[in-house]
Amino acid sequence: MDDKWILHDQISIQNTIQGRLQHFQLQSDLESGQENKCKVFMWILSKEKILTADNLQKRRWPCHEHCVLCNGPLETSVHLSFNCAFAKAVWNQVFIWEGINTDLLQMQDEPNHFRTWWEQVVPQISKDQRRKFNGIVIYTCWNLWKERNRRIFNNVFQSPSEVAARIKEDIDQRRRALRTFG
Ligand SMILES: [Zn+2]
Repeated sequence: MDDKWILHDQISIQNTIQGRLQHFQLQSDLESGQENKCKVFMWILSKEKILTADNLQKRRWPCHEHCVLCNGPLETSVHLSFNCAFAKAVWNQVFIWEGINTDLLQMQDEPNHFRTWWEQVVPQISKDQRRKFNGIVIYTCWNLWKERNRRIFNNVFQSPSEVAARIKEDIDQRRRALRTFG
């Protein structure tokens, strides 16, 4: 599996946060492996515990210091998933495809935490669209993380449009699954 290392990362983090996963708040009714993997990832991301460079440095583990998506500043979870110029281009493309107002991406200039942006934006989304919106957020963050790992571990680079297309694929797949099982 091309994302074996992601699971490895997640398992090592999970070992340090045993017993706390039951507090995971994100809502989703699907129980597929992909969906669960994303839910666990988002829980870890919302706690800022994913193994970005800042967290690896705290553990004194070797790492790429700079964001590999933009060759910019120190890689943190909020930078990688939102503040990064590459990430912003991906978000923008996905929002356009999904018919979501791209002004929402500007609601906070450079949030210090991804969660604060998400919590501010969700009330702006109509209630019947929130589930869809949260799914889009989850798959965007998840695919940005996978792109980061592809670059570091496989030396494979994709453009913002290519990453956005992968997100669209995940979103469409989720939609089909919800139609079938929802
Ligand atoms: Zn960056």
